[in-house]
Amino acid sequence: MVKLNRSVAQLAVSESRALGLGVFPACCAVLLGLVLWSAPGHAQAADFVFSPAMTQHSLSSSTEVLVDSSKALDFSQVQQQPESRWSPVLSETPSFGFTGDTYWARFTISNPTSEPQQLLLEVGYALLDTVKLYQPQGDGEVLVQEAGDGIPYRDRIMDHRDLLFPLALPAAASQQFYLEIESTSAMQFPLQLWQVIEFYEDDQYHIFWHGLYYGIVFVMVLYNLFLYARIRDRVYLYYVLYISSFSVVQLTLSGFAYQLLWPGAVAWNSAAVVVVGSSVVLFACVFVQRALKLGEGFPLLKRYLDVIASLATVCLVFGLFAPYGLMIKFATALIIVTCASILLISYYVWLQSKRRYAALFVLAWTMFLFGVLCLSLNKFGLLPRNFITEYAAQFGSALEIIILSYALAERLYDAHRQSYQAELKARTANETLLEEQQRHSMLLGVTVRERTEALEQALKQVKSLNVELRELSTTDTLTGLKNRRHMDDVLQREFLRASRNKSELSLIMFDIDHFKQINDSAGHLAGDQCLQALASAIMPLLRRPPDEICRYGGEEFLIILPETSCEGATTVAEKIRQTVGALSIQTDAGPQSLTISLGVSCFRQGKTSIVSEMLQQADDALYQAKAGGRDQTRVAEGSV
Ligand code: GH3
Ligand code: MG
Ligand code: MG
Repeated sequence: MVKLNRSVAQLAVSESRALGLGVFPACCAVLLGLVLWSAPGHAQAADFVFSPAMTQHSLSSSTEVLVDSSKALDFSQVQQQPESRWSPVLSETPSFGFTGDTYWARFTISNPTSEPQQLLLEVGYALLDTVKLYQPQGDGEVLVQEAGDGIPYRDRIMDHRDLLFPLALPAAASQQFYLEIESTSAMQFPLQLWQVIEFYEDDQYHIFWHGLYYGIVFVMVLYNLFLYARIRDRVYLYYVLYISSFSVVQLTLSGFAYQLLWPGAVAWNSAAVVVVGSSVVLFACVFVQRALKLGEGFPLLKRYLDVIASLATVCLVFGLFAPYGLMIKFATALIIVTCASILLISYYVWLQSKRRYAALFVLAWTMFLFGVLCLSLNKFGLLPRNFITEYAAQFGSALEIIILSYALAERLYDAHRQSYQAELKARTANETLLEEQQRHSMLLGVTVRERTEALEQALKQVKSLNVELRELSTTDTLTGLKNRRHMDDVLQREFLRASRNKSELSLIMFDIDHFKQINDSAGHLAGDQCLQALASAIMPLLRRPPDEICRYGGEEFLIILPETSCEGATTVAEKIRQTVGALSIQTDAGPQSLTISLGVSCFRQGKTSIVSEMLQQADDALYQAKAGGRDQTRVAEGSV
């Protein structure tokens, strides 16, 4: 609910703002109406009477105009024209729009003083092509002076951007003057009569206002060029092109361009307004397209401005050689259409996208449109020529330039804010990702460590099981001695070592005598106990580490004695026999005693070639011991 209220409030605010800006052009129109209304109406042409107290005076109420559409009349013919062809000037500024006719104006100045007077006549529109001043003298001679941008600037009578004529008034007399005016520009010739000193004093204020305007433009041009150099966004370049071309138009209209920039270029001076004016339209279009980012979401508006820009280019090219009178109408119409279009486009973009800088564009262009409208109506003769209409375009344009510059700053801020938000988002996302990664790698680390530990544990178990298994697979479960499988391996190894090292190796094979009887009489369990007791008794007798004993068969045992001679082996055998013989084994079936028969075989260097031979010899010796009456040791033949 609160949210709804807020959005309604926001809507109301933006609507009222929109209304405010929309109302602005309407106010401008009303203002223009007032200006028109306040313009002086019809006045009967009368002689102008000079007074020394006068500083400046408009001659419009003293001026009569004759239109020569044939352009064929010369001065003497004009003088003879009937009075009915002369008509008084109806406004402060005689404005007749764009016309090809020759205009004649006449006025009379009376000098009641006893001194001859030197005055200045200002024809306040610098773009007039030729203005000729005819001053009939008493002796029938006519003094003719010529001004206008149809003649090179340096040939002017007076070095001034405006068209000036020095007027010499004879003492206590009236003097009639005629002006012949031809122009392809707008036909307007505000006539002001000045005291010379006052004219130059007043001119300083005009120069100040002009200077202020061009100063603003100059600084903005430089500043935005710097911005373009650093930021490389072409919007600043277009802005610079737009405001500088517009200020060149202003320079041309005010006569400064002809005075300062191209004083000798007569043809160019007349074409300049059209050519540079068209370039203003062109640059304004590309500037607005880019500044308002019409490409992003407003393709139709962008295309529309493309069309206007193309028309401006055509106008620019034709402006160089086509008749000025035709092209200036086209260019002026284009400028008005462009201004209105840009204003509406900015307004639409602002409403649609809520881009703040678009609102500033609306404001800027409203100012500008107001100014241009005043100027254009002035040039068409629909508005009087006065301070407001003459300077409105410059004021409007200066305000526009300043507001646009602020709008560009706003646009830059907007872009920065967007990229900052995107960066913030990316950074947060990165941090989250990093945290997640860290968490994962931590978990992974823990898991890997746990798994590794478990694996190591399992490996350890497997190893010990393997050892156990190997132990089990090589151990005789009843006696705890090594079994025959193990013994085969050991015997093979020791045999090879003895062969290689040419060392000694002996075997003792022994068998319990009449063991079957013990089993039969005392039982298998007692037999097993006897076997265990025998093993335990013999083991301590084999003191050397490499000596090995194993249970070779049921009650048959084998002893391997590396590095042991036949005598040594026989001694060991005897010792075993005596030890066993002396045993009294406690079994479940009562005490038992045992005897054993032993066969000894020895490795003979160069004679014993395989292991089985040694075993066979030991077995043979054992057999002989059995055969010889048991409980005795026999050494295999050939062993010693
Ligand atoms: P002799 O060697 O003196 O010729 O007579 P003997 O009775 O020992 O002969 P024989 O080799 O024929 O018998 C061996 C007997 O040993 C057979 C079997 O009953 C007994 N025997 C073999 N292995 C085991 C065993 O693991 N436990 C028990 N209790 N008796 C066994
Ligand atoms: Mg036996
Ligand atoms: Mg046996």
